[in-house]
Amino acid sequence: MRVTDAVTDVAEGLLELIAPTRCGGCELPGVLVCDACASDMPLIRQDSACPRCGAPDGRGVCAECEGIRLAFSGARCAALLGTPLSRIVTVYKDGGERRLAAPLARIAVLAVEAVLSDATSTRPRTRQPDVDGGPGPGSWTLVPVPASKRAIARRGFDHCERLAGELGEVCGLPVASVLARRGGRDQRGLGREQRRANAADAFVAVTAEIPGRALLVDDVVTTGATVDAAARVLLDAGSEEVRAAALARAVGVCPAPSAPATLGDASTRLWLRTRERPSPG
Ligand SMILES: [Zn+2]
Ligand SMILES: [Zn+2]
Repeated sequence: MRVTDAVTDVAEGLLELIAPTRCGGCELPGVLVCDACASDMPLIRQDSACPRCGAPDGRGVCAECEGIRLAFSGARCAALLGTPLSRIVTVYKDGGERRLAAPLARIAVLAVEAVLSDATSTRPRTRQPDVDGGPGPGSWTLVPVPASKRAIARRGFDHCERLAGELGEVCGLPVASVLARRGGRDQRGLGREQRRANAADAFVAVTAEIPGRALLVDDVVTTGATVDAAARVLLDAGSEEVRAAALARAVGVCPAPSAPATLGDASTRLWLRTRERPSPG
């Protein structure tokens, strides 16, 4: 064993003594997310979700977004922000347990897979990626929806950027932090129209290297106003197409599904896979 490895082991041992690892969902000692919480994740059934905004039980375009102009071509959310996920997200963002980014990314990948599937099924069939140089595998770039400077200072990190980084590892897609958030008011506590107005000029592109096909990554989508504003900036800055994938959809804004899907038997498969790639679109 090298000296640096030994030092790391000692440091991790001390840290474990001071702040033992606990499940983000139920505080069970020894794991970041326990099997029971993993099996109880309120996943959204993608086959019945709205492909336009990601709302559960849309069965086609839902009443939430019908008639509303959206800058992004489609959005998917992996789960509802119900227990135990809501608590895990809070422990990740505000409880200082940054290692939760990895297990959260393994849930969020379900939204990315659904978005890539949507993008593939809506792509014109005449464009063959390997024949005419059209969009091929890996042509989507993950773009985290940035937190405000104030939130980053408070938490010590940008939670979405870290989640997107882990998601990039799981999906095998590149990640580019090309947006920054202007000052502005916090979205919490605002209604749908207030959120749209507040989010309208919330973002700015910080580089000229804008991905052609951008897949926005957000942790929690409430009305979609934030993602929509970010998508507008990307399209204005040169993106050809923008879609969005979110870890969770806030409950209470839209009707909760009658029977949310849970990981159930699939929990082990989902939890253990780390490098498996979704079919790129
Ligand atoms: Zn647990
Ligand atoms: Zn919808």
